[in-house]
Amino acid sequence: MRDDNCIFCKIANGDIPSKVLYEDDEFKVILDVGPATKGHALILPKNHYPNLYELPDDTASKVMLLAKRMASRMTEKLGCDGFNLVQNNGKTAGQTVFHFHLHLIPRYEDDGQTLGWKPLEMAQEELEEVRKTIVGE
Ligand code: AMP
Ligand code: ZN
Repeated sequence: MRDDNCIFCKIANGDIPSKVLYEDDEFKVILDVGPATKGHALILPKNHYPNLYELPDDTASKVMLLAKRMASRMTEKLGCDGFNLVQNNGKTAGQTVFHFHLHLIPRYEDDGQTLGWKPLEMAQEELEEVRKTIVGE
């Protein structure tokens, strides 16, 4: 379940060094080399899954439990004021490394970062069309 050309496979399995915050049989949590803020970290499964769509349910559940534990610990140790979980899938959504990862981003007052979007104006009818499309009505 590894891809020889994948940098996160190499990091998660110890072939390339990284700043490790946590490790178990299935996951490694490392500091991001280009952090948005102090403490920005990544949860990496050791197996290679390109994105969320291909992540097994069991792994997905464990990722969220690990994120919760890491967020609590990092908030306590770093004294951050808030916390973002970010997870990109596909180039259009900003994914640059095609091995599933969850960003853990501590937030500090006045950290100067903006993780957000410009809200669109959407009429109730249009929202209803979207709802029907997704639900399949
Ligand atoms: P994404 O844009 O969601 O695919 O995020 C990829 C993240 O991986 C970026 O935040 C990069 O800074 C980070 N990154 C890339 N290479 C490394 C590396 N060798 N060690 C740690 N983080 C990395
Ligand atoms: Zn990989």
